[in-house]
Amino acid sequence: MKEDCIFCKIAAGEIPSKTIYEDEEFRVILDISPAVKGHALIIPKDHYANLFELPEALAVKVMILARKLAAHMKEVLQCDGFNLVQNNGKAAGQTVFHFHMHLIPRFENDGNQDRLCWNQLEVSPEEMEEICSKLKLKEE
Ligand code: AMP
Ligand code: ZN
Repeated sequence: MKEDCIFCKIAAGEIPSKTIYEDEEFRVILDISPAVKGHALIIPKDHYANLFELPEALAVKVMILARKLAAHMKEVLQCDGFNLVQNNGKAAGQTVFHFHMHLIPRFENDGNQDRLCWNQLEVSPEEMEEICSKLKLKEE
């Protein structure tokens, strides 16, 4: 547990939260400022600042849990769509530096942009080729 980390305190139950799921490794809470009613956060109980610090085995469990909760929320809320969002670093909009995955149920005309937003750049074929070869990762 990291001192002064609000999500460590929430995960440990030291700060009350609207918890919708809890097990040994995770707490899932409702976001205090939701994009949509039902917007929730998967929070590991151990402190990892971001995806780069998260151990691989836990990353796998996050995705399995996200899938399970998304299916549950879809059934209960009858939502039309679903976003998983996970921010890493201030430049990417992270504001709480304890890894978390956003679970965002989506409805037609829910007041958000259909597509959670980023600019769409125009990139030349040469630049596409350059970045593609730079990013090629060999299978392990
Ligand atoms: P991020 O921008 O990905 O770091 O997201 C942090 C999220 O945590 C935001 O959506 C906040 O609304 C949410 N949040 C911050 N403090 C609390 C809290 N005490 N309880 C529930 N959600 C919180
Ligand atoms: Zn923490």
